[in-house]
Amino acid sequence: MMFTFPLHHMTALLAASPAADSPQESLRYHFAQASYLVATALFIFALKWMSHPRTARRGVLAGVIAMLAACGGTLLYYQPETYKWIAIAATIGIVAGIPLSMVALTAVPQRTALSHAFGGLAAGLVGVAKYTHWLHQPGELNSFRVGVIVLEVILGFLTFTGSLMAAGKLMEWIPTRPITYKNQNLFNFLLLGVAVVVGLLLVFWRPDAWYLMIPVVVLSLAFGVLLIIPIGGADMPTVISLLNAYAGLAAVAMGFVLENKLLITAGALDGSSGLILSVIMCRAMNRSFSNVLFGAFGTVKASAAAGEQKAYKAATAQDAAQLLEQAQLVVIVPGYGMAVSQAQHRVRELYDQLSKRGVDVKFAIHPVAGRMPGHMNVLLAEAEIPYDKLIEMDEINPEMPRADVVLVIGANDVVNPAARHDKSSPIFLMPIIDADKAKTCLAIKRSMNPGFAGIDNELYTADNTLMLFGDAKAVVGDLVKELSGQSGIH
Ligand code: NAP
Repeated sequence: MMFTFPLHHMTALLAASPAADSPQESLRYHFAQASYLVATALFIFALKWMSHPRTARRGVLAGVIAMLAACGGTLLYYQPETYKWIAIAATIGIVAGIPLSMVALTAVPQRTALSHAFGGLAAGLVGVAKYTHWLHQPGELNSFRVGVIVLEVILGFLTFTGSLMAAGKLMEWIPTRPITYKNQNLFNFLLLGVAVVVGLLLVFWRPDAWYLMIPVVVLSLAFGVLLIIPIGGADMPTVISLLNAYAGLAAVAMGFVLENKLLITAGALDGSSGLILSVIMCRAMNRSFSNVLFGAFGTVKASAAAGEQKAYKAATAQDAAQLLEQAQLVVIVPGYGMAVSQAQHRVRELYDQLSKRGVDVKFAIHPVAGRMPGHMNVLLAEAEIPYDKLIEMDEINPEMPRADVVLVIGANDVVNPAARHDKSSPIFLMPIIDADKAKTCLAIKRSMNPGFAGIDNELYTADNTLMLFGDAKAVVGDLVKELSGQSGIH
């Protein structure tokens, strides 16, 4: 599991300059710098710790303490005349933040996109505010300052609208399918190119030509929207972590604008962790960045789904329980459906029942199963399934032919064999868990409907697959009842 931490959001408005006129001020300055050093170290540890479920809680705590140190040091150094506006802003942030932090696990990607949107907006607004401030102070607007402001404004505002679009797609408020048109990429890059050229005019021609800042802002906002429109919903997590990287870079630029070292380091950490996460996700899907950003993944949905429905075999919980208890090795493949139905605790009971009978039970974890990186790890950890039973895709695949039963619980795209051979499939070459190679496959889902990529799954119509239709929590509950002899049928 790997999370990126939105460091730039809270540090966005923090700044400290090295000027110190009195001994007290000098002391406060050094205290602020010391708190920044502590905060930077803790941010680094936070990212390290958050990359593993065992240490993730410690990582979150380290991030919180780091943020308190950063805010505390800054407030102490600046000693603002009034805390009124800071208190109002903090109250709004807390009131909005608490409900946002309590969303269901399945809604975390869109929640993350929203917080990136706010981070981008903060960066963009700080850039415009600082530009306006220096505009009225003769001699303050030099090319370097305007240059970093332009960078901050472009990245901040495109992150704002891009992240809003990404959240809207994930919440299905706007169509999740790629919306494409002829010469789309050319048009988008021309738009960005115009924003960059106008920005360069500001930097090198007339730093005080404030009216040029307006097209830079408007074009950046428009580019954010147009960048996301052609990208399908299934690619949103990768795009969100890429937008996280942009927001981090905007924070770095803001650090230069505000002459704040903490913002520069925090933004760099944020930007690089976002980029690394995007690379990990691209590798998990065997896709390149350009394919994610410009590949319009999911456009063939309709044609792929239009094929005739093949026959499938359905089984009862009783049949399935028998197969499971006779197995030596059972591999459970959890997916998005397990998260939706919150079946993880029932799955734990099933694990206990089978382990009690001496069945070796392993969990196959696909890096993009569910709707966010680490989704399955978090759910299974919540149900206290031992970590050593959670096996990554590359490690479990060689074992699949040895598995007597593979139990697919609400997973679809991550077990679709079309990824291996169907060149026309939108998930072609995405690494999958080889569920089809097990001796028997039991698949729990509510219908024959496709998964996130919108394509049929030949695994469900394979000769060795039995479908268990129903809500994952209810079906796994039935299996547990069968195995524990409480079903009333025994
Ligand atoms: P999936 O392909 O979305 O399939 C999930 C399946 O769960 C569906 O076919 C659905 O079938 C079933 N389901 C839904 N609710 C259920 C319930 N209550 N009980 C039982 N079954 C239920 O999921 P996946 O195999 O985990 O693959 C993840 C997909 O999402 C990939 O395409 C990935 O690229 C994409 N994605 C990943 C992330 C990430 O970072 N992990 C984020 C966003 C998108 P029924 O409707 O028939 O029940």
